[in-house]
Amino acid sequence: MSDTIFTKIIRRELPATIVYEDDLVIAFRDIAPQAPVHILIVPKKLIPTLNDASEEDRELLGHIFLVAKRIAAAEKISDRGYRLVINTNAEAGQTVFHLHCHLLGGRSMQWPPG
Ligand code: AMP
Repeated sequence: MSDTIFTKIIRRELPATIVYEDDLVIAFRDIAPQAPVHILIVPKKLIPTLNDASEEDRELLGHIFLVAKRIAAAEKISDRGYRLVINTNAEAGQTVFHLHCHLLGGRSMQWPPG
């Protein structure tokens, strides 16, 4: 599979404001934030979309949620509330084909989303 912008961030070939990293994931601030807190949690394994995830990714997918919870606490938005978003393919607006979870918070959110 070919590299993505996020692969380059993982390899430190592109700059990013990294807020968390471990063996499985990296998390950094979105370059075009849509909320006061807008962080992307990205698995180091290149999975293009959620459609491409499999049973072997079960632990990794669960880990992403737990990391999101941890970062939300560090950003002090746990109690106020926050939103996790995984855009999948064109109609959802996915632009980077390297699975990632958006952590958005620090303002009131609308529902339904646009
Ligand atoms: P999506 O539209 O769900 O695929 O989300 C891709 C996200 O990546 C968008 O919110 C972009 O603003 C963000 N993004 C693209 N390039 C970078 C970058 N170099 N550093 C941080 N965030 C980025």
